[in-house]
Amino acid sequence: MTINADGVLIVVALLAGAALGPLLRAQILHFAVPSEESWRRDCPQCGAALLPTAWRALPPTGRCPRCRQRIGPAPGLVEAVAAATLALLAWRVSAPLPLAALCWAAVFGVVLAFVDVAVHRLPDRLTLPAAGGTAVLLGLSAAVDGEPRRYVVALASALGLAAFYLILALIAPAGMGLGDVKLALCVGLAAGWFGWPATVMAAMAGFLLAGFYAVALLVTGKVGRKDHIPHGPFMLLGALVAVTLAAV
Ligand SMILES: [Zn+2]
Repeated sequence: MTINADGVLIVVALLAGAALGPLLRAQILHFAVPSEESWRRDCPQCGAALLPTAWRALPPTGRCPRCRQRIGPAPGLVEAVAAATLALLAWRVSAPLPLAALCWAAVFGVVLAFVDVAVHRLPDRLTLPAAGGTAVLLGLSAAVDGEPRRYVVALASALGLAAFYLILALIAPAGMGLGDVKLALCVGLAAGWFGWPATVMAAMAGFLLAGFYAVALLVTGKVGRKDHIPHGPFMLLGALVAVTLAAV
């Protein structure tokens, strides 16, 4: 049996995603707090100091190591989402620097998606480094490969998509927030690296997926018309769909 380099890279990405899970869980616990509260470092159930420093890990069981109560996402879920996302990117994108940029965005994206689901917010402390790191790594890639035009399209996509979400946030502040606008910078960069059509596809896929999800919840009676469904996870999922389809 022969194993090609792409196969090895996908397996490495899969394992890296699973291994990062406990670190991402710590970040999710840290940032998943209502906007009026300070960032969390203790177990919400027993008060144990779980995150004395910013970069602690939490077990994949999703339980507090001291009181054994559930804290954060279900067992193995963060690990599975991170592993699947990184493996998908490694499968579709082979150039090292763009892959690094997308993995950077994806790692922040996983934390943002879980935080948005938990508390309906996308903290600046996550959205801004997500966009900044992606911009730096894609810029580096453009400089190394002599592709300035591609980088300009990515930057313009980021600004264009953020402007689009800003207009939505101004028209309908209940449905869209400034967190979504800042997340659009990262989404626009990642999708825009593969061209304008990919950016449009990312936005449309995000709205379509959110729409299907809302209809499914309404039909099954899980939510009412007035309930707010966070849009961040769907923006990220839309970007992943667009990158998966557009990357060559
Ligand atoms: Zn506890």
